Order: sequence, then structure tokens, then C-alpha cells
Amino acid sequence: MKDIYAELISIGDEILYGQTLDTNSHYISAELDKLGIRVHRKVTVADSREAIMKAFKEAEVNADIIIITGGLGPTKDDLTKPLLAEYFDSGMKLHEDILEDLRERFVKRGRELNELNKGQAELPEKCKPIENKYGTAPGMWFEKDGKVFISMPGVPSEMKYMMEDTILPRFKDMYQTPVLIHKMVKTVGIPESILAEKLEDWENNLPKEIKLAYLPGLKQVKMRLTASGQDEQHLQDLIEEEVNKLYQLVGKYIYGTDDSNLAGKVGELLLQQNKTIAVAESCTGGQIAHLITANAGSSTYYRGGINPYHNDLKINVLGIKTETIEKHGAVSEQTVIEMAERVREIFGADIGISTSGVAGPGGGSEEKPVGTVWVALADGQNTQTKLYHFQFDRAGNIEMTSNSLLNLVRQTLSLK
Ligand code: AMP
Ligand code: MG
Repeated sequence: MKDIYAELISIGDEILYGQTLDTNSHYISAELDKLGIRVHRKVTVADSREAIMKAFKEAEVNADIIIITGGLGPTKDDLTKPLLAEYFDSGMKLHEDILEDLRERFVKRGRELNELNKGQAELPEKCKPIENKYGTAPGMWFEKDGKVFISMPGVPSEMKYMMEDTILPRFKDMYQTPVLIHKMVKTVGIPESILAEKLEDWENNLPKEIKLAYLPGLKQVKMRLTASGQDEQHLQDLIEEEVNKLYQLVGKYIYGTDDSNLAGKVGELLLQQNKTIAVAESCTGGQIAHLITANAGSSTYYRGGINPYHNDLKINVLGIKTETIEKHGAVSEQTVIEMAERVREIFGADIGISTSGVAGPGGGSEEKPVGTVWVALADGQNTQTKLYHFQFDRAGNIEMTSNSLLNLVRQTLSLK
């Protein structure tokens, strides 16, 4: 078995201008990875003859599979089809069956084919067409000296249909690839550099089949272990062994693996302990409620949330004392304590949590600069608080607050 390499070419000025996010290559990479095909390069090129031809030539040198998306519309700015015909030195051929199919589909929609649409049934002779159920431009499959060139439209739904219906099943038959297994181990509440320090010895002694990557985010760091080789069971065992070691070394920071999320972990702990939670969010504006309820089954443990942004609502709806806010301000330890305790009582939950802070960019003062955040957790016995001084933009400060408070809940429940 040898490694199979793929290169992805995204074509379109709109991607280079920053108007369209290249989600196609993101999806294709993930699907090829599942088959053990290694994507070693992605390029994005303009709707220009020179750029596209250069990209084809370069890709052919090192890749076994070249997957192209974009530039397949019927209009003049779409160049991929004529350039592929030129690249493969191929004349054009009209596919009567494709033309008939297009005509039928247009009739169903009460429209007639125009010349531009008819042109879509014309393809380079040297390609095999790939059916496009969701659009009018067929895909194209070329083979040359053991290399495969595939061209698909840029429209994501059309591209995905072709991948799932034709391309991925064919790849499965064509290629026997070495096994590639990824395991994501997710931590919270420990900075990347400290984590790496704690894991230095472990990392230095990893088996040669396993590669490690640190993927830092806000408050969270993911560790990706990638094992490659021939024997799948052996690799699975190796990964499991190393993940167990990680739990021994830094287990208190690990909240899950692979697709798990922090709020989901909190939900799991609540479920195990038969407890419920309610949320009073000021500066996070509902993000914590959203993160919790994004997990299926959350209705079992999530009582509800309130987002009293204005002080009169904190006072009149949540029942925070007027003098608390007058004396200490909305962003204060006293306010978040009352918010957590009151939401716990009013919503009839075992645990009440709250946030209040200055997310920015405006609203800061010398005493409470942007990034000042108080959070609280009330469980009926005691109420914990934490003060943070975040230094991110608005979205970052909000995300840090959400993750920090969810982590506080996780830690508190893990002690039980
Ligand atoms: P085209 O095949 O070039 O006519 O592309 C049609 C449409 O697909 C474009 O207007 C974009 O909105 C979308 N598109 C093209 N390339 C991509 C890509 N790489 N990722 C996501 N959308 C894309
Ligand atoms: Mg285009």
C-alpha cells in the first residue's frame, strides 16, 4: 500500500476577494481524509486562463488526484471546461442523453433551454461525465498516466452530490490506502504552553506511528493524535494507550474527545447526578443557554435562562436588590451572586449560574475596563464567584466568559 496524494484547486475570483468562503475544499479534505487519501496542497486561483493552467500543471507534478471546483457555469467568466479540453488536448462532444435530461428538467420547471444551457451538454471528448442531479453543469472525470483530474461546479450542494454519489464510491474501489486514524482530546482551563510543558516527556516518548498537534482555541486546547500505518487494530490500540496516559497526566483538564463539547460534558454530569441548571446571562447575551441547548436531550437538565441586559429587568424581573446595583454596579460580585441565586430559585433549578461583564469595545471605565467579567455559580449550599480580566475583542470576551463559567460548573460537578 502506498500513500495517495490529492491536490484541491478552488477556482473563482469571489474566493480571492474574500466574498465567498472556500467551504468546498474544507468538505472535500474531510471526506478524503476518511478514505486515507492525503490532501497535501490546496490552492485557490482567479478566473483567469494563466492562473488556472498553471495550477493544473503544478498539481499534476506531485498529486495522484486533482480535484477542481468552480468555473463551470454557462457564462463567459467560467473557464474551467474549455481549459480542461485544452489541457487534455481534447475536442468537444455533445452528449445527447445529458441534453435530453436537461430539456426534461427545464420542461418540468416550465422553462425552455437557451443556447447557454444547451452548451452544458457539450463536454471534452476525453472525459467521463459525472451526473449532477442538483444543477445543469455535469462534472468531468479525466484520467492520464494514472492520475485523475476531476472537475465539479462551485455550488456546494452540487459538488457534494457528485462526491457522495460518484466520486467517493469510485475512490473506495480504486485505492487501497494506508490506515489513518485521528483522535481529538479536548482540554479546558489550561494554557497551551503549560499543557505542553506538563506533557513534554510523554510527547518525547510517543510511538513513531503517532503524530501530535496542539490546536489552541479560547480557553480550550485540543490535542490531535494521528496514527498512520497498515494495521488498523494495532493503531487503535496504540492511540487508546496514549489517550489513557493523557488522562493520567492531565485528566482534570480533559472534558472529552472527538465530537464532544464542553456544554455537553456539563449536561452529562448534570444527568448523571440528576440535577438541573438555570442561567442568568448579562454580558454573554444568551450564548451559554445556546451552547447548552445545542446538545440533544438538554431539556432533561436545562430549566431555562434569562438575559436581563438592562438594570430595570435585573431588578424587576430577576429580583436583584436596587441598592446592590446602585452601590456596586451591574458588573460586580454582589450582582452576579444575586443573579445566580435568584435564577436558581425562580427557575426551580439545582444550580444557578450568572454572568455580568464589560464585553467591549465600549463601556469600559478605569475601575472596570473592557474585559472585566464576574461570574457566579449558586448550588443552594454556597455561591462561588470568579473575576476575570479578558483582553480579547467583543466576541472573544463573550466566548471566554461562556467557556470559563461552563468549566467552573464542570469542575464543581466533577468534585461531587
Ligand atoms: P461556479 O462553478 O464558478 O459557477 O460557482 C458557482 C457558485 O458556487 C459561486 O458563485 C460561489 O457562490 C460558489 N462557490 C464557488 N466555489 C466555491 C467554494 N470553493 N466554496 C464554496 N462555494 C463556492
Ligand atoms: Mg465562478
